[in-house]
Amino acid sequence: MKTATKTADLICSYCGASALQIQKWDEATQFLGCNSCGARGPRTPLCKDPVLQSEGDSLLRTVIDESPDIIILKNWEGNFLLCNDTLAKLYDSTPEEMVGKSDADFNPNQEQVDFYLKNVQAVMRSGETQVVYEHSTDSITGEERYYQSIKKPLKGPDGSDRILVIAHDITELTQAHQEIEEKEKRYSYAMDAADVGIWDWDIPNNRVTHNAKWCQLLGLDDQMSEHHMDVLSGLLHPDDREEVMGAIQEALDGNGHYRHEHRMLVGNGEAIWVYDRGRVMEYDADGNPSRMVGSMSDISMRKEFEQRLEQTSRELEKANEGLELLVAERTAALELANQELKRMASRDPLTGVGNRMLFNEWIGLHNASTTLSVLMIDIDHFKQVNDRFGHERGDHVLLAIAQCLKDNIRTNDLLVRWGGEEFLLILVSVSPEQAIEIAESLRQKIEELSLLPSGEAITLSIGIASGNVESIDIAICGADKALYSAKRDGRNRSVMLPRSDEAPQETIQKA
Ligand code: GH3
Ligand code: MG
Ligand code: MG
Repeated sequence: MKTATKTADLICSYCGASALQIQKWDEATQFLGCNSCGARGPRTPLCKDPVLQSEGDSLLRTVIDESPDIIILKNWEGNFLLCNDTLAKLYDSTPEEMVGKSDADFNPNQEQVDFYLKNVQAVMRSGETQVVYEHSTDSITGEERYYQSIKKPLKGPDGSDRILVIAHDITELTQAHQEIEEKEKRYSYAMDAADVGIWDWDIPNNRVTHNAKWCQLLGLDDQMSEHHMDVLSGLLHPDDREEVMGAIQEALDGNGHYRHEHRMLVGNGEAIWVYDRGRVMEYDADGNPSRMVGSMSDISMRKEFEQRLEQTSRELEKANEGLELLVAERTAALELANQELKRMASRDPLTGVGNRMLFNEWIGLHNASTTLSVLMIDIDHFKQVNDRFGHERGDHVLLAIAQCLKDNIRTNDLLVRWGGEEFLLILVSVSPEQAIEIAESLRQKIEELSLLPSGEAITLSIGIASGNVESIDIAICGADKALYSAKRDGRNRSVMLPRSDEAPQETIQKA
């Protein structure tokens, strides 16, 4: 026989109803059914008295309570016939306290409460199990939580409508989705707002997603944000295609970075210059690149400037080369002119032999100790030549004599026109005897020339003196004196006077 004490300890293992609500039990405390939730025996109801608990009911109760999902059994009015700890915690209550109450008793959000009731009634009415996505406000934290709820309509033992709700918390998943959506939205805004073309290459599928700017740059419909990679490679300028594809492949095979400047064909068939750069952002499980993202900007204007600059530089360079050539030519011409001027300055214009300037240069170029002999050569009675045959003939005679002297001396000897009809000849490294010999030879050669129309010979008087470069003035003086002597002694002769520190030397005279 069941005692009053024991019945007070009983609660329904399904809905948690207290002993007072459990109507169906027999005298041996055998649970026959719960009037509150309609659960049927012969199972022993969950009881605070372990003696009264059956193992199966206890296990079921534990599973329900331990489930991370919300498990609810509601009647038509939306009252809880059973709920587990997961919901009770959300409502800051206990499963026992919640039995017989409704969402309205715990949830301050009337809108949600109305939705729950309407929704469960709609499901019960339909008689079909439904999956509903809904959210609930945590009564403690005020936090919104999202659920994927399986709502299964049931019938109570008395045929009344009930509904079993198993709500799986998908808050984290929903938030993650929302974050992704938000990020995608921002990414999409950024793509559209960017002033550069952006591309996102799904490598395994060979599809490329672009922002509107990318399409606009290439004159494509900016609503078409996705293209096959073949479309893209078809837009590459034929001359650049191989190089670009090579650069991309190199990035895929190497460090994942790609950058290139090349031409792309725009809608109207014209080409634009672009700076394209990208980076592998994702790799698959085998380490193969699976996603590459990059940007492209129009650098046509910069390229045009560069080309113009290059062209201008080339032209400048060419002009410079021309200028340099011209300068070089002018410099060479000037150099030549200078040399000629210098040569002319040191030459006698009539005879072409050296003048006193050349003589001074010559002295400067020779070692002071160089031995030499000085021959002072004077044409005899030249005044008469002018007088008798004219000045022009006189010039001719001067020129012919200079030429003959020049032709009969060595290249290292120096012949200069010293005065009107006087020549100075310096013989290097010759002995006085050789000097006399040379003087005589020259004198004879001139005498043999036929320079006058009358057939008369032109004769020379030559004064000779020896010395060295250092004492050349003395030698010249000596030669002058010897010349005077030759004139005085009858002309047409060579004379060498003895030096004052020497014994008198033989003078040579031509009869
Ligand atoms: P001497 O035998 O004493 O030397 O008599 P000379 O007539 O040769 O000597 P003089 O000094 O009396 O005259 C030299 C002449 O040479 C005078 C001058 O007119 C002439 N003479 C000087 N330079 C030139 C020249 O460049 N051309 C011509 N045609 N004659 C010149
Ligand atoms: Mg003379
Ligand atoms: Mg003279």
